[in-house]
Amino acid sequence: MPLDSRRDPRYDILFEPVRIGPVTARNRFYQVPHCNGMGHVYPAAMAEMRGIKAEGGWAVISTEEVEIHHTSDVTPHIEGRLWDESDIPYHARMVEKVHEHGSLAAIELVYQGHTVANRYSRVAPLSSRSIPVDSIDPVQTRAMDKSDIRAIRRWHRNAALNAKKAGYDIVYVYAGHNLCIAQHLIAKRYNQRTDEYGGSLENRVRLFRELIEDTKEAVGDSCAVAVRFAVDELLGPDGITAESEGREVVEMLAEMPDLWDVNVSDWENDSVTARFADEGYQESYISFVKSLTSKPVVGVGRFTSPDAMVSQIKRGVLDMIGAARPSIADPFLPKKIEEGRLEDIRECIGCNICVSGDFSIAPIRCTQNPTKGEEWRRKWHPERIAKAKAEESVLIIGAGPSGLEAARALGERGYKVMLAEAERDLGGRITRECRLPGLSTYARVRDWRQGQIDKLLGVEIFRESRMGLDEILEVAPDHLAIATGADWRRDGSGRSDPVGLNLSEERMIFTPDDVMAGADLPGPVLIFDDDYYYMANVLADLLVSQGKEVIFVTSSDSVAPFTAYTMEQGRIVTRLLEQGVRIVTGQELDDFEGGKATLTCTYTGKETALEAASVLLVTSREPNDGLLQQAKAVPERLLEAGIKSVQGIGDCVAPGTVAAAVYDGHRYARNLGEEVDPDETPFLRERTALPD
Ligand code: ADP
Ligand code: SF4
Repeated sequence: MPLDSRRDPRYDILFEPVRIGPVTARNRFYQVPHCNGMGHVYPAAMAEMRGIKAEGGWAVISTEEVEIHHTSDVTPHIEGRLWDESDIPYHARMVEKVHEHGSLAAIELVYQGHTVANRYSRVAPLSSRSIPVDSIDPVQTRAMDKSDIRAIRRWHRNAALNAKKAGYDIVYVYAGHNLCIAQHLIAKRYNQRTDEYGGSLENRVRLFRELIEDTKEAVGDSCAVAVRFAVDELLGPDGITAESEGREVVEMLAEMPDLWDVNVSDWENDSVTARFADEGYQESYISFVKSLTSKPVVGVGRFTSPDAMVSQIKRGVLDMIGAARPSIADPFLPKKIEEGRLEDIRECIGCNICVSGDFSIAPIRCTQNPTKGEEWRRKWHPERIAKAKAEESVLIIGAGPSGLEAARALGERGYKVMLAEAERDLGGRITRECRLPGLSTYARVRDWRQGQIDKLLGVEIFRESRMGLDEILEVAPDHLAIATGADWRRDGSGRSDPVGLNLSEERMIFTPDDVMAGADLPGPVLIFDDDYYYMANVLADLLVSQGKEVIFVTSSDSVAPFTAYTMEQGRIVTRLLEQGVRIVTGQELDDFEGGKATLTCTYTGKETALEAASVLLVTSREPNDGLLQQAKAVPERLLEAGIKSVQGIGDCVAPGTVAAAVYDGHRYARNLGEEVDPDETPFLRERTALPD
């Protein structure tokens, strides 16, 4: 602990070392396995990203899922890969980065089964009997015989030996997230075998037990062997439950592994967004584990509060605080607690934009942490930023997520920043949206930045200061950034209708901005969702809570398709149905007149009519770029006033996610005063080596 530490002694317990078999973690902060869309395709980026978390104080840093053999290949998803020795150097790079900061490196070895389609290797996946794979692929598995089971054990053992060669300290045996053969065999709904691997729980657990034994025997002398086990699948009696078989499995294997990493299954249930679950939501399922084993227990629950963490330890729920998302949003979370800088913690908002990267086969991104995924390719460090090369001033107009992030980062760089906001409250869309049902954590995007700005002497905030061109010229900064956001469109233009609707009865047409400003919509309300993310369904929640009848019409074939990437879609549809919302998919809104909406089928073009008293259009947003265009139109006047550059950032240029606005503000701040050649790719690329 640094001598000048302001750390509250009640957090000391979080910094006690924990023995895990033959290795020791320096504290109780444990970055559990998490996907990142980088894996074996972008290994340098992955290694740097993990290394920075070790630097930030996480005592254990794990890989994501790592494939161990070509017969279980997760293509097109990008995970780790350790099929043979040729993959070792990629892992060694990550291990080296983690060890550099005194942390332990863990690897999660995974053999899937019917949850992969083997799109790359093109061999039939294995499972206990031939069943369709979990994806939409028209593929069935091949039933595995005893020699297949022996082969899986051998492949797992080989992978463990290669993991040891790569330098890993902890090797996982996996039975979680419904993504692995060991769990599939334990779950009786999948396992109809009549040999010693089927039938009784003892038999169904056999492969899991053998994999633990094999791994201990192969590498247990120097590596800890951890298990990741889903104690409850949230399927009631159809699945493993914490009251019955989940508990019995822990009882059976209690002292075998060196560490129990326990959670609920599947991934959708493990990484629930803040909209649907609070911090610490897994406790009631996993809390029994510690009473059955003397080995350290790790669990997750989107922990960002040190008090909640201490409580988990003191009440004997967990020995180590597992985290994926909180470590993504703030890689330096442990360090900040250690140094008593709690106000600096950048708390995860639980939005799962990070997960959306992995699901859409792209490198990870994060709403709160714009440097996430950019550690290697752009050399962005979450806690360090280059100082300004000149003493210059920047006027930023608009204090939404983009303007706030730009102001914060430029302030850190030493620029003199003036942040002008038309409203009394800062935050822009955040301040409006965080009042909607389930989105209160979004306020953290504003609050963290505001808190950081308050500490920066060089940043001044001007509230209730609507800026026009004259005011800009009067202030005459060296640089001008315009972050004036976007408004929801009232003409209904968007994906399904780029031109816009010819709506006859404008009076009863509303936008999300109207609702957020408190408009009272007469019911039944027809919500037309052409946006596909959260706004339309969150507003449905709000309107239902106001006692309104809601009809949810979307041009998409499914409800809010982007939320499949944030793993919320199932919960959203369930909620809408439970609330009695009528869902109409694959229909475009054409007209609304006299209380009657005309819809058109997206396939046949056939028209139907629906009765509604008002229509809420959630289609697309209009960039609020008037001021930007005005400023850009008079370059000579700007120059005359000494303004050397003008740039739009965030939604006023290209409306998108909050994550995109924060990222754009951050990128602007990083690039200001640096030479950026627009013809050159602004980041490093990883290329697959071209074989002979
Ligand atoms: P982003 O997501 O790009 O950060 P937001 O819409 O969240 O955009 O925020 C834009 C902010 O800009 C809002 O708070 C809005 O009040 C403010 N704003 C818009 N026009 C002006 C202006 N002319 N002067 C000052 N502030 C403005
Ligand atoms: Fe948390 Fe959202 Fe960042 Fe993921 S993207 S770590 S959920 S803030």
